[in-house]
Amino acid sequence: MHEKWVVASSNAGKIAELEALLDGLAITPVSQRDFDVDDAVEDGIAFLDNALIKARHAASQTGLPAIADDSGLAVDWLDGAPGIFSARYAGTHGDDEANNAKLLTELDGVAAADRGAAFHCCLVSVRSPADPAPIVAHGVWRGRILTRGRGTGGFGYDPLFWVDSEQASAAELAPARKNTISHRGRAMSRLVEALRERRDR
Ligand code: IMP
Repeated sequence: MHEKWVVASSNAGKIAELEALLDGLAITPVSQRDFDVDDAVEDGIAFLDNALIKARHAASQTGLPAIADDSGLAVDWLDGAPGIFSARYAGTHGDDEANNAKLLTELDGVAAADRGAAFHCCLVSVRSPADPAPIVAHGVWRGRILTRGRGTGGFGYDPLFWVDSEQASAAELAPARKNTISHRGRAMSRLVEALRERRDR
């Protein structure tokens, strides 16, 4: 028998990806949208804070175990900005073009060697709203911020994110390749590994 877990996301792609990964653990992820969960107040400072806030909120409103993620870009030269504000760096939520333009302005004149950055994805799972021992899976993907965009794939900051090992920007990678090596892919496989380990203990 599969157990239903709520996922604090309305993104069908993310749910489908989790569905494939959790199948072997007899867990069926269901979007929080199907339970009419309202938006949590994401007032944390770190990706981990906001992921936990969202997971506890979804667990509290559904009575089910919950999974949530928070991700974004942290640029070394900018002390980790845009960080948890990645989606709304330039003011409007989800305006990728404006966010990328702002990032280029902030890094104007900064040498290639100082343009290091990382995408982070923090995935957490709680068994109940007050679970004192959440599972935390953090995926990191290192790269460098280009001086202008390359490629047409992906989303968000992908055109500006140079991946040395691939000699390509994230927006130039085939989707399957990006999923394998990205912060999100790494966090997802770590989460599954941790859930399996806990089950087998
Ligand atoms: P979310 O938490 O997955 O919604 O991501 C928050 C924001 O971080 C997105 O709106 C993007 O601006 C940025 N971001 C996260 N992951 C990626 C990625 O894989 N490529 C490009 N931008 C990303």
